[in-house]
Amino acid sequence: MSNHRNRNGQDGEGLHFAVIGAGMAGLLAAIRLHQAGEHFTVYEKADRVGGTWRENRYPGLTCDVPAHAYTYSFEPYAEWQAYYAKGSEIQTYFERTAEKYGVMPHIRFGAEVTACIWDEVENIWRLGLSTGETAVADIVIAASGVLHHPRMPDIEGLDSFAGTALHSARWRDDAPVDGARVGIIGNGSTGVQIVTALQSRAASLVHFQRSPQWIMPVPYFQYSDEEREAFRREPALIDAIRNDKDYWDAIYRFTHAITDTHGPEIAMIEQLCLDNLENSVSDAALREKLRPDYRAACKRLIYSWSYYDAVQQPNVEVEREAIARVEPDGVRMADGRLHPLDTLVLATGFHADRFIRPTTVMGRDGLSLDDVWSVRPTAYYAVAIPGFPNFFMLNGPTGPVGNFSLIDIAERQWNYIGHLLEPLRRGEAASIEPSAQAHADYEERRIAAARSTIFGSGCSSWYLDATGVPSSWPWSYEAFADAMSSPNMTDYILHAGQDSAVAAG
Ligand code: NAP
Repeated sequence: MSNHRNRNGQDGEGLHFAVIGAGMAGLLAAIRLHQAGEHFTVYEKADRVGGTWRENRYPGLTCDVPAHAYTYSFEPYAEWQAYYAKGSEIQTYFERTAEKYGVMPHIRFGAEVTACIWDEVENIWRLGLSTGETAVADIVIAASGVLHHPRMPDIEGLDSFAGTALHSARWRDDAPVDGARVGIIGNGSTGVQIVTALQSRAASLVHFQRSPQWIMPVPYFQYSDEEREAFRREPALIDAIRNDKDYWDAIYRFTHAITDTHGPEIAMIEQLCLDNLENSVSDAALREKLRPDYRAACKRLIYSWSYYDAVQQPNVEVEREAIARVEPDGVRMADGRLHPLDTLVLATGFHADRFIRPTTVMGRDGLSLDDVWSVRPTAYYAVAIPGFPNFFMLNGPTGPVGNFSLIDIAERQWNYIGHLLEPLRRGEAASIEPSAQAHADYEERRIAAARSTIFGSGCSSWYLDATGVPSSWPWSYEAFADAMSSPNMTDYILHAGQDSAVAAG
């Protein structure tokens, strides 16, 4: 297995990897593969790296994970302007990092992977590309992102709007904002950030909220030139922020809060959010409009230092009435009122169950990923899928979600995948996949635990699958870190080739 003749046109020893996507996770894989001297190609549908940070360019785009924690562990960055980084800065970070680590020549831009078909005879993946070309690889790393298919709201008359209507993930710089009448539908992390950014620019702003949100108050401050200079001189200062006990305690507290819905941690989070509402919003009527009727952290918590301030400005209206329809002049409410608008921003989220799809993925015996995922997307420990040998996901289904760094998640998953690849690298097997039984047991345990997390406590959100079950990791962050530190190899099946299993673990 380790002596390959021809993979992607390259001769040589070793495994050949196809990485799908040049976003945060795909670049991580590329850098690690490059450092290890592996053969690999990254396929990227767009013409730049960056993934979500390339696609999302809306005003106010900020990552609500502290900037120094939202970096690769091996590439600290002294240049962050503030405690929370802007999207454009993060895009720059990924572009610089890809250049610095020499992975750019390995990226095929404008090449979307449209099909991955497992060849049982050759033990390789055959890839179809949007360019009409084909490619082969021993290993596929699916790093195609989670939230990348915009969800358009099903609102009558949307197409009839005479102004500019656009989804947050398809921002256009020519959208009228300054001095304009702006409406924003959607109250997730995105909608809140856009409201906060546009309040001072728009003549008037209406925030349409189908459901109010709990807002967690967080600190925000700029780094000075002196601080950045100190970060450049002394990377240990950055390490201290990344490893800060308070930061990690907050993550552990958060995941304990999610899993123990009657414990002290969730009570603390709820109290902080409640106090924030009571103390920040002076008008009693507005306060009631903004008060959620579900538990804090059931939907993704909004971290904001400025939203409550923005919605108390005289040019802002929080609208809680149901939307009846969109008309050419604006948004008509169920009670008959019309909000005349020039620009309508749809911060209505994403189809969160897509992952690598619509790429056609077919594993052993013509097994289709669409069929396997017909009820819900799933992967064993969020990484691998029975029947899909040598196919690994970064930030795949059932992984942790919440207010923490997905870079850290991906790095831990990459470590786990590295262990899985060892038997292949040693030439002991041609392929590896989790056993169906191990995966079934995992899903049974996961779903049972997920139902009793805070995500399943009675609100709607993209954290729920089509059957209403939370789709994410339902245990603590420590449990995830522990699981990713080394796989239980007895849960994996190794194949020697020609479909013969050499060992179960
Ligand atoms: P989202 O959390 O799914 O929120 C979508 C919003 O649109 C919700 O308020 C939803 O209301 C509303 N909505 C959807 N359809 C509607 C309709 N037909 N009529 C009225 N309202 C409608 O989407 P998002 O805000 O784009 O955030 C998605 C995820 O991206 C976040 O959870 C987070 O993981 C990530 N993100 C992260 C950051 C960050 O700083 N790290 C920033 C932005 C986004 P309901 O609640 O009533 O359904």
